[in-house]
Amino acid sequence: MSEHRQAFPCNRCMQCCKRVHLLPQTAGMDRGDGVCRHLDETDGRCRIYANRPDICRVDRQYELNYQRTMTWDAFVEINAAACKQLQTM
Ligand code: SF4
Ligand code: SF4
Repeated sequence: MSEHRQAFPCNRCMQCCKRVHLLPQTAGMDRGDGVCRHLDETDGRCRIYANRPDICRVDRQYELNYQRTMTWDAFVEINAAACKQLQTM
């Protein structure tokens, strides 16, 4: 893993953690209204951050599923676009 690759530009809007019903891999964490049961809505933190599933780890997803087919920068761009889309829903 490169030391100097850009960090994923997460602004902690929480929209991904508030819409876990949208992905089959995260739907099991839906507390009933689409919000992840592990999200602390008062400060936007994941209560199981150190042990969160791989699907919530952008670096891990890249390593597992995308590094053979695209650059990190391209992966970041696609994911950042998805974040932007979630933010306008
Ligand atoms: S939707 Fe994107 S920017 Fe918002 S908290 Fe999730 S990863 Fe971060
Ligand atoms: S486990 Fe944590 S990072 Fe994953 S969706 Fe829930 S609150 Fe968000």
